Amino acid sequence: MIDSTLNVAQYCGRFAPSPTGPLHFGSLVAAVGSYLDAKHHRGKWLVRIEDIDTPRTLPGAAETILRTLEALGMEWDETVVYQSRRTHLYQEALHELARQGFVYPCTCSRKEIADSSIAGIGGPIYPGTCRRNPIAKDKAHALRLCTNDETIAFLDRAIGPYTQHPARDVGDFVLRRADGIYTYQLAVVVDDAEQRITHIVRGADLLDSTPRQIYLQHLLGYSIPQYMHLPVVTNAAGEKLSKQTNAAAIDLQQALPQLVEALRFLGQNPPPELLQGKIADFWLWSQQNWHADWIARDWIAR
Ligand code: GLU
Ligand code: ZN
Repeated sequence: MIDSTLNVAQYCGRFAPSPTGPLHFGSLVAAVGSYLDAKHHRGKWLVRIEDIDTPRTLPGAAETILRTLEALGMEWDETVVYQSRRTHLYQEALHELARQGFVYPCTCSRKEIADSSIAGIGGPIYPGTCRRNPIAKDKAHALRLCTNDETIAFLDRAIGPYTQHPARDVGDFVLRRADGIYTYQLAVVVDDAEQRITHIVRGADLLDSTPRQIYLQHLLGYSIPQYMHLPVVTNAAGEKLSKQTNAAAIDLQQALPQLVEALRFLGQNPPPELLQGKIADFWLWSQQNWHADWIARDWIAR
């Protein structure tokens, strides 16, 4: 059944992996969730390689991720885009924000910030030192965005209402680092708008980034996509699966069992026969039987 609350006619979703290592079960869940939600709504599904943080990018990882998606039978629409080749777009957006007077340079070190701030959602809340005392621009500096007194609220399709006060909860955040690299928050907002993404389905580890992204969307005059955040896969120690926690790469010899497991993790109810069939049958069944509302149901029980 197609969810009538979604604007189905123009659904465009995406999967946006950072190529810091091969696809693991955690990123597979985000890929499968975004893919099925898009396909179930007869939408497009784009793949974007988020290799903006070049020092963290692992050579060859993007190619490995794409080959794995292909081997799993996940076909993307349009050409894959690479953030590392789109810095001109981020620069334009930054100029626009600067033109509006929302951007200021900051030379504070991590240590200075840690010593003079209180803890926020994703680390220390920047105390606004350089906003109050403008610094000489000739020193290497990051560029920060002024947050204001607004409260940002949105309705997540899986989690429900979510509210944040960026100024109080995260503080003025960085758009371009002192080493010249544009940050995830800016790049993701520019790309989602430029690619006309209407629905974002991704891990709940990014939930607290969403209000910052909505704030940027407001300032840049972009439309606000619908969000759905998926439960995060953790290991036995309760840590999020990631390269840092040594998550194992998806084993293509075990493609079907892992796809079925990802589907179960997303609260769906795949029949055991799917394990005996072909990958194409798996996708056919799971697109037709996708229930986004079961994700939350399962999550609350977890
Ligand atoms: N590149 C991010 C990650 O791999 C995902 C960004 C997003 O989906 O907004 O964690
Ligand atoms: Zn500063």
